Amino acid sequence: MRERCTAIVLAAGQGRRMKSKVKKQFLSIAGKPIVYYSLHCFERTSFIDEIILVTSSDCVEYCWKNIVDKYGFRKVKKVVVGGKERYDSVYAGLLACKNADYVYIHDGTRSFIDREMLKRALDGAKQTGACAVGMPSKDTVKILDRDQYVTKTPKRSRVWTVQTPQVFRYKVIREAHDALRKGSMEGITDDSMVVERHGKCKVKMVEGSYENLKITTMDDLFVAEVILRGREL
Ligand code: C5P
Repeated sequence: MRERCTAIVLAAGQGRRMKSKVKKQFLSIAGKPIVYYSLHCFERTSFIDEIILVTSSDCVEYCWKNIVDKYGFRKVKKVVVGGKERYDSVYAGLLACKNADYVYIHDGTRSFIDREMLKRALDGAKQTGACAVGMPSKDTVKILDRDQYVTKTPKRSRVWTVQTPQVFRYKVIREAHDALRKGSMEGITDDSMVVERHGKCKVKMVEGSYENLKITTMDDLFVAEVILRGREL
């Protein structure tokens, strides 16, 4: 029997860097909200069974009406309320999962994912239990001390920047969250870090794409429009 895959799509951020009244995940690119694009990809990917959308308490109704119902996303079974930090929103999504073997955790502000990327990430997660998509850094990376002096230059071929989706065997990510939440989640900035800190499972990385940007500022919105236009040609 095929394993059951749930996608948790995060849209509970405040989007302050966007300096807009509308929360960034609901701003539009080419007439559709940013979060629409990743939901659409999960919806039409056959091996995704269920989607859980995580948003802030004041946006739950908006999400059902203006996104889930409006665009007919049938795989969205729940819209749940997120938390203060990104990892709190992820945990709310994890608690809402029912019978998931694998779980995708995805930033709703990353619009440019595709089926092949989702498949690569799942295949990676099947190898170890945890897999993140990312790309090799195009720039040389410097590690600095507190006073902004360079302390190290890691070999570039080994430096990747991490993106989402990140895919986990449900038990692996749930146990890691449960264990770390008993102590401190301080400094956790992505999901694989939770598993890395827990130290029970290796994290595989596979290629995402250079187009898989996180739409964070108004400039990114313009870039996103250009990428989308390119895809439609
Ligand atoms: O703030 P950041 O750019 O890291 O947000 C990445 C994603 O996580 C966004 O999709 C945002 O909506 C989501 N997020 C969330 N809950 C938070 C903070 C961020 O769902 N408390």
